[in-house]
Amino acid sequence: KFISFEGPDGAGKTSVLRQIQADLEDQLGKDRVVYTREPGGDRISEQIRQLLFNAANGDMDGRTEALLFAASRRQHVISEILPDLNAGKVILCDRYVDSSVAYQGAGRQLGEKEIWQLNQFAIDGVMPELTVYLDIESEIGLRRIAEHRSDQVNRLDKEKLAFHQAVRQAYLRMYHNDPDRIKLVDASQPLDQVITDVRQVIHTRYPD
Ligand code: C5P
Ligand code: MG
Repeated sequence: KFISFEGPDGAGKTSVLRQIQADLEDQLGKDRVVYTREPGGDRISEQIRQLLFNAANGDMDGRTEALLFAASRRQHVISEILPDLNAGKVILCDRYVDSSVAYQGAGRQLGEKEIWQLNQFAIDGVMPELTVYLDIESEIGLRRIAEHRSDQVNRLDKEKLAFHQAVRQAYLRMYHNDPDRIKLVDASQPLDQVITDVRQVIHTRYPD
């Protein structure tokens, strides 16, 4: 089972994922469930991560950034996702292709279609059966971050509301284009209710 979790900043993805992981570990055993995110944990991914997140690379070209995200995704698929899938584990993946389409494609205006196609080459058919999309209005998401995540405020100030609205609109378009894979959960609700809804979505996709 391969489930990805998506959403704009401030949707509560981290808190939701933590609870869902705990649920599934109780249900299936710790060794059957993996939480993972890009760039994956191997040496090559680590080096790509340093390129992507090193503040000294603030002048990185947008397409370079998109290519590096795709490269790191490829490496993550090969080093973690495929081996875990083959071992029969449940994979909870914190962001995947849709994040690139939303953030690089729409947010950074590199083109949603172009970023989607670039990533098809990277993932070579390895897609989650289920994507949980935590939807939040941009103003509410940004307000939550301002209130709870002082470490992220400066960076997000720079990206501005319009950027976050573009990201959300791209997510909503993907959801409307692929409602079989992508399930929308209203993340403006209280956290308990969001988690209840996510559990329901997972149970509906995997009844057993
Ligand atoms: O909330 P989370 O830790 O998942 O946020 C990661 C951040 O990395 C996002 O806010 C976004 O700005 C950035 N990101 C990105 N492009 C991606 C994935 C993440 O710009 N493909
Ligand atoms: Mg977060």
